[in-house]
Amino acid sequence: MSNYILLVGPPGAGKGTQAKRLSKQLGLPHISSGDIFRENLHNETELGKLAQQYMSRGELVPDDVTIRMIAERLGRPDCADGALLDGFPRTPAQAEGLDEMLAKQGGRVNAVLYLKLSEPTLVRRLTGRWMCRAQGHIYHQEFKPPKEEGLCDIDGSDLYQRDDDRADTVRNRIRIYFEQTSPLSQHYRDRNLLMEIDGEQSIEVVTQAMISAIGQEARS
Ligand code: AMP
Repeated sequence: MSNYILLVGPPGAGKGTQAKRLSKQLGLPHISSGDIFRENLHNETELGKLAQQYMSRGELVPDDVTIRMIAERLGRPDCADGALLDGFPRTPAQAEGLDEMLAKQGGRVNAVLYLKLSEPTLVRRLTGRWMCRAQGHIYHQEFKPPKEEGLCDIDGSDLYQRDDDRADTVRNRIRIYFEQTSPLSQHYRDRNLLMEIDGEQSIEVVTQAMISAIGQEARS
């Protein structure tokens, strides 16, 4: 049986951090649309150049481009039995695109973990966030500082602040989330797949809450 799990929630909710932890615990590949766009941007591909125009403003990359990119990624052998999707889908059209691509592979969305947080928490988290250049490990100047300033504890690579984590862009990303992405929660609530998780809790507690939510779904 396939196992496709979605992580949904506003920017700064901790989707990336949780996806890395869950991916290890569940043995599923972590597919982050934002990471794939950033990788393309870094490698200066055509896709990266196109995505940059939207990303720098905190806007969403058009659906057709995003859906094609994810379909290509999910079509690879490591995703044949399941994946943990982080940051995709973000619009109802993407959700439909995902249903279609999974149906072609004989799968479906099995669970949707929806992280809930207040807006002031999101702004504080995003504007203090640092990422490692090599593998995207995530730090925070206040809540999770690295042992040595500017360097990743895990792989020693440089830490950088994402361009779109500046205060003005952050507000735009949060506004766009509430306008375009939060209607998705209803899509999955209607299908009885949505599991709400309190994202204000500690990293460890949130991971545990997710694991037990998925466990309950598997048994029901
Ligand atoms: P993230 O790392 O998930 O916060 O994504 C960073 C940026 O990449 C977003 O602000 C968008 O510009 C773009 N992006 C990531 N995922 C998607 C998606 N599913 N649909 C459209 N744009 C996306």
